[in-house]
Amino acid sequence: MVDYPDSLKRLINELARLPGVGQKSAERFAFFILYEDREAGKRIASAIQEILSNISVCSRCNNIAESDLCWLCSDPKRKKEFLCVVEQPQDIIAFEKSGAFNGKYFVLGGLISPLSGVSAAELPFGKLRRIVEEDGVKEVIVATNPTTEGDVTALEVKRALEGLCVKVTRIAKGMPQGAAVQFASPFVLRDSFLRRIDVD
Ligand SMILES: [Zn+2]
Repeated sequence: MVDYPDSLKRLINELARLPGVGQKSAERFAFFILYEDREAGKRIASAIQEILSNISVCSRCNNIAESDLCWLCSDPKRKKEFLCVVEQPQDIIAFEKSGAFNGKYFVLGGLISPLSGVSAAELPFGKLRRIVEEDGVKEVIVATNPTTEGDVTALEVKRALEGLCVKVTRIAKGMPQGAAVQFASPFVLRDSFLRRIDVD
């Protein structure tokens, strides 16, 4: 059977594994690079190389970082008494744009989702508890998306911090149910932050 050369198949297969990219789009990207813009291919390859060598994960909060700690964890002006728990690093950028928060962050890296097979055991709740204890955090603000998974995860954060002297709140549902923090406007995020409620 006639097929593409192995190197081309490998690229298509790797591209097709990216979120939101299927086999068809992967082929289109690969042929665009081969036929239309080989220079773009080199630039993409070098940009990927660069982020892989320069950007890693913050050892404290799981945000992206250019050294052991991210720019937020190493900033002494941020109030460590307030810790905002988010699903992913992109959410931090969204909150920073809103200007509503001057504390520290913690990235869970996912939400509890029985449908996708993600259980509480797979999320870093132990590390979260350790940071809350070590930093003497007074309030943990859970800023997960207003979805069922986001709500279940907020309850689990509360459970993981049981016995510690810390208040656990959740950003208000200013956003429509099912919306994503990452894409909410700075105004909406600021409002949700200011009207946060206790998790119970
Ligand atoms: Zn950090």
